[in-house]
Amino acid sequence: MTKNIDWKKYGLGTQSVRAGQRRTPENEHSDPIFVTSSYVFDSAQQAQARFSGEEAGNIYSRFTNPTVRTFEERLAALEGGERCIGVASGMAAIMTLCMGLLKAGDHVVCSRSVFGNTVLLFQNFMAKFGVETTFVDLTDLNAWESAVSPKTRFLFLETPSNPLTEIADIKALAGLAHSHGCLLVVDNVFCTPALQKPLELGADIVVHSATKYLDGQGRCVGGAIVGPRELLDKEIYPFLRTGGAAMSPFNAWVFLTGLETLKLRMKAHCDNALGLAEWLSGHPKVERVFYPGLPSHPQYQLAQTQQSGAGGIISFEVKGGQDAAWHLIDQTMILSITANLGDVKTTITHPATTTHGRLSPEERVKAGIKDNLVRISVGLEDLEDIIADLERGLNG
Ligand SMILES: *Cc1c(COP(=O)(O)O)cnc(C)c1O
Repeated sequence: MTKNIDWKKYGLGTQSVRAGQRRTPENEHSDPIFVTSSYVFDSAQQAQARFSGEEAGNIYSRFTNPTVRTFEERLAALEGGERCIGVASGMAAIMTLCMGLLKAGDHVVCSRSVFGNTVLLFQNFMAKFGVETTFVDLTDLNAWESAVSPKTRFLFLETPSNPLTEIADIKALAGLAHSHGCLLVVDNVFCTPALQKPLELGADIVVHSATKYLDGQGRCVGGAIVGPRELLDKEIYPFLRTGGAAMSPFNAWVFLTGLETLKLRMKAHCDNALGLAEWLSGHPKVERVFYPGLPSHPQYQLAQTQQSGAGGIISFEVKGGQDAAWHLIDQTMILSITANLGDVKTTITHPATTTHGRLSPEERVKAGIKDNLVRISVGLEDLEDIIADLERGLNG
């Protein structure tokens, strides 16, 4: 029997391993996977009650699946939100959010420093349906303020930003959004609720790519939206039911096992990243390190108050331009050369020719992405082995 527990009252570690689980009559201890597309009703009358919404319960796995629901309830508890909707990917989360909330004539203000496909979704696709987006500098409050108009439905940002780890003041931007009658949406992929709780800071909605730290081991693609129950039930869930970007129960089950170790992993990522950032800062071949856990970071104080850890992503500029950056990357033996992040394995990438390669050289300069910039998503290998792998390329 599963006891009815209010998971909000428990700590993050407890929520991570227990929230959302409802045991079946088999009394299993671990979370089961429900691999079924549809569900059987006791009677024609019950089928009618379920379809009309009079009776809660499973209908079809595009929008009701017990494994996905367990993931949703667990992530909602972790983020401190009333309701979570699990979807097929991080991009599906943002797309489902947009399709649910926006209509022709609406306006969005979006940080310029967001995931590349998020920019394309607003710029190339939402624009086709008459939704206009203004892109602004993440840290420039005045720019946000002057971009907001009576048509603005929400502000959208990621913090820390990728790859330069700039920090948005979530509280200030939530205040700005609310004073103009719009919502603040935060993509919390980089911190996860283990390090940052945007809803507690005043944000209205959090979106996730579960593909990154929530899985944490680079296995499955998935996403989620967390926020107020009424808003999600009325405006966003109906689009998932109809639009169909559903999370697979297998992926939900993998994410549940990932969430069990979220608190421990994020602490270990932060410890390794801080150690690496400090080592890089003292290296003569490194010009500049971007990491919010270093007191030299321009927004160190804000990061200290807003986050409980500085995260696992570091960027740095090496002496010698693109050649030196590529040499460093190619000399590594154990680091993975891939643009993915949030994995137990450390990954290394050259943003100017990969994640930001579609920008023109002028746009890259404006975004602060230099040719000698390298980004590392610090994993859980021993710190001395990560350092040794980088030392080789930096020294010759
Ligand atoms: C990866 C990522 C996404 C998109 O997630 P997918 O699961 O790859 O669709 C969105 N936002 C951020 C910050 C990401 O890193």
